[in-house]
Amino acid sequence: MNKKVIIIGGGVSGLTTAIYLKKNGYDTLVLEQNPEVGGACTGWERKGCYIDGSIHWLVGVNPNSPTYKLWEDVGALTPDVKIFEQDDFYTLDFGKDKKFTIWSDLKKLQKELTNFAPEDKKAIKKFCKLVKRFERIDAPVKKPVDLMNLIDLLKIGFTMAGDYYYINKTSKISCAKYAENFKNQYIRKWLSEHMSANYNLMSFLYMFSHVTRKDGGIPEGGSKKFADRIKDKYLSLGGKLVCKAPVGKINVIDGVAKGVTLKNGQVLDADWVVSSVPAVHALNDLLKGQFDLKEIDDRVSEEKTYPIYTYTTAAFKIKDDLTKKPLSHKIYFDTPISLEKDHFSATYRNYSYDKTLTIDGHTVVQATLSGNDDMFYYWEKIKEQGDYKAKKREVAQKLLDVYLTRYPELKDKVEIIDVLTPLTYQRYLNGRHGSFQGFVQTYKGKSLMHNGKIKGLKNFYMSGQWLLRSGGLPPAVITGRFTAQRICKKDKVKFKT
Ligand SMILES: Cc1cc2nc3c(=O)[nH]c(=O)nc-3n(C[C@H](O)[C@H](O)[C@H](O)COP(=O)(O)OP(=O)(O)OC[C@H]3O[C@@H](n4cnc5c(N)ncnc54)[C@H](O)[C@@H]3O)c2cc1C
Repeated sequence: MNKKVIIIGGGVSGLTTAIYLKKNGYDTLVLEQNPEVGGACTGWERKGCYIDGSIHWLVGVNPNSPTYKLWEDVGALTPDVKIFEQDDFYTLDFGKDKKFTIWSDLKKLQKELTNFAPEDKKAIKKFCKLVKRFERIDAPVKKPVDLMNLIDLLKIGFTMAGDYYYINKTSKISCAKYAENFKNQYIRKWLSEHMSANYNLMSFLYMFSHVTRKDGGIPEGGSKKFADRIKDKYLSLGGKLVCKAPVGKINVIDGVAKGVTLKNGQVLDADWVVSSVPAVHALNDLLKGQFDLKEIDDRVSEEKTYPIYTYTTAAFKIKDDLTKKPLSHKIYFDTPISLEKDHFSATYRNYSYDKTLTIDGHTVVQATLSGNDDMFYYWEKIKEQGDYKAKKREVAQKLLDVYLTRYPELKDKVEIIDVLTPLTYQRYLNGRHGSFQGFVQTYKGKSLMHNGKIKGLKNFYMSGQWLLRSGGLPPAVITGRFTAQRICKKDKVKFKT
């Protein structure tokens, strides 16, 4: 009889584990708490518009890249899925005509930055050269290191030997520190504020070099369709899926995971249990704090070194064609929007690039303020005080007012249709402090690559973005595959894709 595996969480990682295990003869059941699969990779409707909840850029869209093969295996990308390649990655707008665009074409970017800041010509050239070098770096995605044999390890050591120098050199530098190489205050602002506070330079270069090498793009139809394709693939293989099935507990007897208990009390048995939910939720809530996982516990206790990613976002419905406006527009302003701190910039993303997402001549624009744990604490307090709805409305209006300073012609064509805060992500994903991605990779933090095993707990694996530094969709699919490979190895099943 085929072995039964329960996979908790129907996000990209959980579905990926389920697909690979199904292909290897296992009897799989995915349990998802929400009515829809996808987890953080989702989208929804409001007032006749589609609001995309995730993909701003996806790594692995180029058929020649190693990650593409994984997206193909799980049905997320196929040759007929159109990819939008974003030329203008984003535009930074400091007001008073101080503006430049981050182009995905490196030569065009070098020219743009040099025209904007001729005093930094040399530093800009060096930066572009560094990005070019990173274009050659690919993390191994076929097999986890713990399953590699000597030949695999030698191969990696050989192909990546030159890369380690650059990876090590840039891992311990924050983007803010690197920005000091530039004289121009706006270029410095761009580099130091691109991601979260203290973000390390290596992670920035690795991500950005995928964009410049044309391996970063946006699949047509957005995040919900992307996740639904993975679900369809899984169901087509005969996999079982139950939505609206929140798991309350992982059942452990004598150090062996035996199955789960749903929140409605139903007990389900299995030979293996995989948790692809946020790591802290798995450890504290589902395993009731009975097991330690040092790598996660240490990070949780050092919040400043390992902050989380979260957002406060307002979505606008705009009755106009925005195709000529920047796709991603970071606007700086003088009167701050005060939440956990004073925010002096917000990013506005217009979804007009995808015709399948514009409904009835309307385009959605999302305005985002980025934050960390403190943004969550702020909203938590506001909720306790009973001011949650009013404050959400106030912030959304302020974000809209800023947008209209740049596009006054849209004044009578725009409506606020949704507002999200860290509390939204916490409720929807069980993400600690409203996080939707792994820990931020700061320059002080250690890199993370965990095998998902918990000491003292057999027949159990943890999967998902929390096992790899920074998180994101590639870590979700990679860890999903690795978990299936580890289970196959334990059961002496020859892994096939
Ligand atoms: C606004 C935003 C923008 C993003 N942009 C990008 C981007 O441009 N590129 C990129 O690569 N990534 C991006 N991401 C991140 C990306 O979406 C996530 O990294 C990825 O989807 C994580 O997948 P996962 O399966 O590891 O985890 P999750 O998506 O968190 O999946 C876990 C699943 O478990 C379910 N669950 C939790 N608890 C339980 C329980 N007790 N019982 C049953 N089910 C449970 C959850 O509902 C969820 O479906 C973005 C995310 C957001 C929110």
